Amino acid sequence: MSGFKEFSLLESIIDRVSLKGYKQPTPIQNECIPALINGNDLLGIAQTGTGKTAAFSLPIINNFGRNKIDIKAKSTRSLILTPTRELASQIMQNIDDYSDGLGLKTKVVYGGVGRQNQVDTIALGLDILVATPGRLLDLIETGDVNFQALEVFVLDEADTMLDMGFFKDVQTIISKLPKKRQTLLFSATMPAEIEILAQGILTEPTKIQITAQTVTIDLVNQSVYHLEKTNKVPLLFNILENSDYEKVLIFCKTKFGADIIVKALEKESITAASLHSGKTQAVREEALQNFKESSLRVLVATDVAARGIDVDNITLVINYNLPEDPRNYIHRIGRTARAGKSGMAISFAVENDMRQLNNIENSIGQVIPVVTDQPFHKEFSKAPKLDKKKKKKNVKNTNRSRTKKR
Ligand code: AMP
Repeated sequence: MSGFKEFSLLESIIDRVSLKGYKQPTPIQNECIPALINGNDLLGIAQTGTGKTAAFSLPIINNFGRNKIDIKAKSTRSLILTPTRELASQIMQNIDDYSDGLGLKTKVVYGGVGRQNQVDTIALGLDILVATPGRLLDLIETGDVNFQALEVFVLDEADTMLDMGFFKDVQTIISKLPKKRQTLLFSATMPAEIEILAQGILTEPTKIQITAQTVTIDLVNQSVYHLEKTNKVPLLFNILENSDYEKVLIFCKTKFGADIIVKALEKESITAASLHSGKTQAVREEALQNFKESSLRVLVATDVAARGIDVDNITLVINYNLPEDPRNYIHRIGRTARAGKSGMAISFAVENDMRQLNNIENSIGQVIPVVTDQPFHKEFSKAPKLDKKKKKKNVKNTNRSRTKKR
């Protein structure tokens, strides 16, 4: 039966988890859940896609479901701080699913939407508050939330907080929390700033490192198309002619660029929307929902907006622009090939991108095969070379084009 039974979780949580279709705990869940039920602090080096939301939320739900208390007005027993609105609503959705029937009071707060409803709900006292830093600080400053009753603090995606410039806000929020609490910190990577923060806020933490990245990469069929910049839109149409690509996520560099691509696609009657911080929250949510429900075939996103989004069955990820940071390449292509499925990732590269491509290949330890059998192929004089030190055995696959023929 379900491996979740091993964890002495409430029966209703086990039922909810199996209703979600989870048969076995993921590695991070196996390691986190017992440590957290024990009351330990935790340092989790893991990215979204590993099942970390359930790993940290099931013990919290279990604990609060077993020990109900009258929560003081405007206070919360736990705080989950996460960088983006999309991640916040995703986490809240999962928690509400897992805790259904237990009568826990939960709320998600983020900016870009009205605050009164958030204020009114927090006023009644909460078991679980999921928040992004900006709106939470605002609610702290107006005295609409306090942490007198706080028992558990989860800092999610700490490195993204840093990348997005939220680090100061996070530190300010932490300074408002009671010292006596259980603290969990999750980060995909450990830059020096996070290392120092972790040392400051965690007490004898259980350390867990899940290297999901290699798994992700192995399941994604990657390729790169060399072309002139002016041929990017025609190549995109050419690729999208393949109706096997039912759900396509395109990454590009700027909000402006994303909107231009959407306009071009719509002209060709391809259903598309953009997801970036220039859109209102309601528009972003609608786009994501339509994409999830497949009434939208293509979503065009910037890195920040798409970080960690969890949409099932994305068949193809296109890097319309290569990411500057090789870590973002891994995050991007990890949006496909989820839950053990395979997926495709196509990157567009112009001549100026060769160095960037080389950095990405060195970072993943693989040469990404170039598809030459395409109408806009351009031969570039310098083929990217792989740094020998990082070369992995699996490079043997790379001279084959693995893209589907159209
Ligand atoms: P997360 O890393 O929390 O964003 O989770 C990634 C995806 O894995 C989500 O769609 C979860 O619903 C799913 N998931 C989490 N735990 C399990 C599990 N034990 N078995 C199967 N899927 C899971």
